Amino acid sequence: MTRMLIIGPPGSGKGTQAERISERLGIVAISTGDIFRAHVKGSTPLGIEAKKYMDAGDFVPDSVTNEMVRSRLSQDDVENGFLLDGYPRTPAQIDYLDGVLAARELKLDVVLQLTADDEELVSRLLGRAKELGRSDDYEAVIRHRLDLYHTQTEDVVATYAERALLARVDGIGGIDEVTARVMAAIDSSITDSVAGGR
Ligand code: AMP
Repeated sequence: MTRMLIIGPPGSGKGTQAERISERLGIVAISTGDIFRAHVKGSTPLGIEAKKYMDAGDFVPDSVTNEMVRSRLSQDDVENGFLLDGYPRTPAQIDYLDGVLAARELKLDVVLQLTADDEELVSRLLGRAKELGRSDDYEAVIRHRLDLYHTQTEDVVATYAERALLARVDGIGGIDEVTARVMAAIDSSITDSVAGGR
């Protein structure tokens, strides 16, 4: 059973890789971005609140996001493992997740970071904006989301590196090629952690 996180800048393909990991490991993938988008689509109170931040490329406030994740992690399907996609993204979210996991005596096995060059990401996201009409994919918003990634989420990555949970994977390349790298990185991290007696 695997409990893991996937972290990557906007446009790194983390959603696509998350789906593949979820299928291959038989664990549920929980994407905070997808949950927010579903709420926006359904015009729920949470969706109306979240949309203001999403459209501007800002993070939805920690209090809202944390509570949503806590509630999702209390569902039965996470008992066989889970993959959190896009959470935690701020140091305060790490603390919150630590608390939720500790209360259930659960530990993360691996934190996967997908890496990609900013200019490559901007051009991918501008292409996607044209195809899907996502309102958070205009260039100024894209650059703002990348800035937040560098200023906040990279601190999150550093914390998991200090905890020796981090596996970095180059996210540039064909989707299958990246999946092969991702699966190899997960396999070796999990083997290492078992060998290390964690
Ligand atoms: P994503 O699809 O993961 O890029 O998420 C889309 C948007 O949802 C982000 O740009 C944020 O506005 C919001 N969001 C998703 N996850 C989080 C999070 N962990 N904390 C705050 N906002 C989030």
